[in-house]
Amino acid sequence: MTATAPAPLPIMPDQHGHFGPYGGMFVPETLMAALNELTDEYERAKRDPLFQAELHRLLREYVGRETPLYFAERWTEKLGGARIYLKREDLLHTGAHKINNALGQIMLAQRLGKTRIIAETGAGQHGVATATVAARAGLECVIYMGKVDMERQALNVARMRFLGAEVRAVTAGQATLKEAVNEAMRDWVTHVRHTHYILGTAYGAHPYPMMVRDFHRVIGLEARRQILEREERLPDLLIACVGGGSNAIGLFHPFLNDANVRMVGVEAGGDGIIPERHAARFQGGRLGVLQGAKTWLLADDDGQIQLTHSVSAGLDYAAVGPEHAWLHDLGRAEYSYATDSEALEAFQSLSRTEGIIPALESSHALAHAMKVAPQMSKDQIIIVNVSGRGDKDVAQAARMIFQEDLKF
Ligand SMILES: *Cc1c(COP(=O)(O)O)cnc(C)c1O
Repeated sequence: MTATAPAPLPIMPDQHGHFGPYGGMFVPETLMAALNELTDEYERAKRDPLFQAELHRLLREYVGRETPLYFAERWTEKLGGARIYLKREDLLHTGAHKINNALGQIMLAQRLGKTRIIAETGAGQHGVATATVAARAGLECVIYMGKVDMERQALNVARMRFLGAEVRAVTAGQATLKEAVNEAMRDWVTHVRHTHYILGTAYGAHPYPMMVRDFHRVIGLEARRQILEREERLPDLLIACVGGGSNAIGLFHPFLNDANVRMVGVEAGGDGIIPERHAARFQGGRLGVLQGAKTWLLADDDGQIQLTHSVSAGLDYAAVGPEHAWLHDLGRAEYSYATDSEALEAFQSLSRTEGIIPALESSHALAHAMKVAPQMSKDQIIIVNVSGRGDKDVAQAARMIFQEDLKF
């Protein structure tokens, strides 16, 4: 096994953002100029040492990087197999990995001279991360959120408002994330000259999947260096949950050339793989186009997007980021799922054994670790990405676990 520095960006999309047959730029003509402008500015910023230095200073001083790689000794003993390390993205400012990307994108928006920021949000974590960096930058900020999600995530709605953002309720359709993305795209088309759209995951039209991935690569770069320092070898297995796919691709990407490192993305299995009761795109999904990208998604025989379900709002989306679709087909990454009840069990197990309350999204990755660690040998190593902390999920988890209705 090689223990040298990772090769730079081993898998790049083509000029129009294709990862193999996936990705691309499926947007209205009016957005093409903005996407091309963003792509060009991103390429310049990536090579600009001043931009990179400022980004890294803020990641360190404001966001709280680097995050620890923590050896979960008691959880390892309890599961009785592979040694489990946790990458602690839950310790970041605002409580999840999303701020890595929100910070990078707002710095780009400032370079482009944009004065207004918009974003979509499901559970509210990306909305909070965006409102946070917008407050710091002194830019106007509008967050689109489904009305149903606003009711479920009242705490995050209040946080966004404290941070000075306007939260706009979206009532169309299911009134959740997909409709919020549609509304954000409509706003962007109308106000594109002075507005930047901070998309929250490794999804959408080029350059978003590549750019969002690059802003999260810091997760994998740190983890790779940290495990080499601690164990003097690379891990056997990486595990991360996959909504749009940003925390997973951020962890996986710097290990893609390390042939002996397996990687598993864990999707939301909901109530089990029954149509409309899960969000596991690689279980029963098909090829289609949604909100800017060609990828694996959940649709019916007429190509209509299906309803999805997951206990965790951050994983509850009908399509998966195009680079994951490509890694799946290449066989470089594998994709599994955890059900709602498996995720809840992992949520409690980690909380009680390690004193770490994980986000329900991250609990899907932890649930997979609970399944595979006992079958691995004691000298093998797993890294699980704990993408966020569970504070936002406390009321929901209390309802499900204690049948208690907490009022916050
Ligand atoms: C949003 C979110 C996710 C899912 O998004 P990805 O882009 O797939 O990473 C996972 N974990 C947490 C804590 C989130 O907030």
